[in-house]
Amino acid sequence: MDADVVIAGAGPTGLMLACELRLAGAEVVVVERLAQRTGESRAGGIHSRTLEVLDQRGVLDRFLAQGALQPVGHFSGLYVDFDESESRHPYPLMILQSAVERLLEEWAGELGVRVRWSSPVSGVRQDGSGVTVELGAGAGHGGTLRARYLVGCDGGRSTVRRLAGIDFPGTEPTMTALIGDVELPDLPEDYVWVRRRPAGDYSAIAFEPGWYRVITSEYDRVPGRDEPVTFEQLRQSLIRVAGTDFGMRNPRWVSRFTDAARQAARYRSGRVLLAGDAAHIHFPAGGQGLNTGVQDAVNLGWKLGAVVRGQAPESLLDSYHAERHPVGERVLHNTRAQSALVRPGAQTDALREVFGALMVFDDVNRHLRHMLNALDIRYPLGGDHPLEGRRVPDADLAADDGPSRICELLPAARPVLLDLRGSTEVAAVAKGWADRVDLVEARSADEHWVVPGIGEIDAPDALLVRPDGHVAWAAAPDCEPDLSALRTALATWFGPALRG
Ligand SMILES: Cc1cc2nc3c(=O)[nH]c(=O)nc-3n(C[C@H](O)[C@H](O)[C@H](O)COP(=O)(O)OP(=O)(O)OC[C@H]3O[C@@H](n4cnc5c(N)ncnc54)[C@H](O)[C@@H]3O)c2cc1C
Repeated sequence: MDADVVIAGAGPTGLMLACELRLAGAEVVVVERLAQRTGESRAGGIHSRTLEVLDQRGVLDRFLAQGALQPVGHFSGLYVDFDESESRHPYPLMILQSAVERLLEEWAGELGVRVRWSSPVSGVRQDGSGVTVELGAGAGHGGTLRARYLVGCDGGRSTVRRLAGIDFPGTEPTMTALIGDVELPDLPEDYVWVRRRPAGDYSAIAFEPGWYRVITSEYDRVPGRDEPVTFEQLRQSLIRVAGTDFGMRNPRWVSRFTDAARQAARYRSGRVLLAGDAAHIHFPAGGQGLNTGVQDAVNLGWKLGAVVRGQAPESLLDSYHAERHPVGERVLHNTRAQSALVRPGAQTDALREVFGALMVFDDVNRHLRHMLNALDIRYPLGGDHPLEGRRVPDADLAADDGPSRICELLPAARPVLLDLRGSTEVAAVAKGWADRVDLVEARSADEHWVVPGIGEIDAPDALLVRPDGHVAWAAAPDCEPDLSALRTALATWFGPALRG
């Protein structure tokens, strides 16, 4: 075998997955079609849950140093407020995708990940013991790689998805958007935030002194997927929508996107899995694509790592589809709604006004902010405690030494059994998994925790936290902990107990 896992694609999803797999002890090769990074950036921001997972791994500061926190988010251009009690990172971080990729690649390198450039996946064969991955020659070396698993993180037009025969059903585009990084010397304002006009809408956001990211959306014509995109098309589109080109000049980059929304019917076909845009594409409203891909990677990494190390059965991989497919489905759903809310026309004007008035209500705003920031996701793990299946809040821990908050328990991506009441019974159960699960005894600094999607709850007595930061088991305060449920959760996620 050349590696335990071959990852196709060195975008944000592939790089995050490579890091997670290395933390789980797997050997990884990332193969990338491009000869080198282009420096282009589609995404311009990351959200609360992604900031939390980077925080869990101890690398968040690198990202904060390269971006700027925004005080608000948005749903279809309508402002969504944040609440500092719900997350330690309640604000979106404006950071270009190129910087996110550079930082993830740097971290991956520190963890020993090899990226093979100019190496497009062109063929895949699966058998009982592994996958043979063929690499197109291109400017690279061609040849084949042998691994236990292949993960396609190769973007919306995924070759891996096609080769694995996985359907990609969804809705066709109804609009086209052009995007470019340009100079706009005649723009009379500092920035333009989603300005709707009869012919479409446009925005111009400064992301570097003198440089604007211009986006125009038009609804009368959807060009073919492979039609070329030019600076002149962007300029003409801005004139049609805004009535002027604001002196647009000096393009660094132009591209196109639509509101096509599609999702892989299965995230796994035997030894081939999909993550990120290879598994789901949608209108980029609310900036959720990169975030969802990174969070796919965090869900899959520890599971695939445990399987290749022989610590968990292959069936654990099915939980990846079961947990992440519904999350992707919800993102497609909310982005379809966002694209409907921005179209030109009197009916949409009215709908937008009604929707905007509803957003003033706390409950509406809260619902949207939880959804856009992926803070209220509850994986279907079963269990009675309201935290089970949800991401663990980053609560403060009261300890003289050691970690001062829950996030600090997860940098090595190992599961943690957090005992907040010093229960000898919980500690006794933990012994059965002492080689794989870290038992941590601490105290919660607060009696109550704020949990998006539920509200305030009493701090639990004990918690089993998976490496992705989701709660697999919890004991309510002042009740007998259900030790049988704890043993079941430990065995389900981390394999059988040690003998004796
Ligand atoms: C205008 C716009 C704005 C956006 N803004 C945001 C935002 O603010 N926040 C957000 O979260 N998301 C945003 N997105 C979405 C985001 O850009 C994508 O969701 C994200 O890039 C997906 O990452 P990925 O790694 O899954 O795929 P990609 O970034 O597409 O990476 C796939 C990689 O695979 C490589 N590849 C392709 N084929 C092969 C092959 N056969 N073999 C090997 N390698 C291959 C590609 O070269 C590429 O490097 C935006 C998108 C657009 C269009």
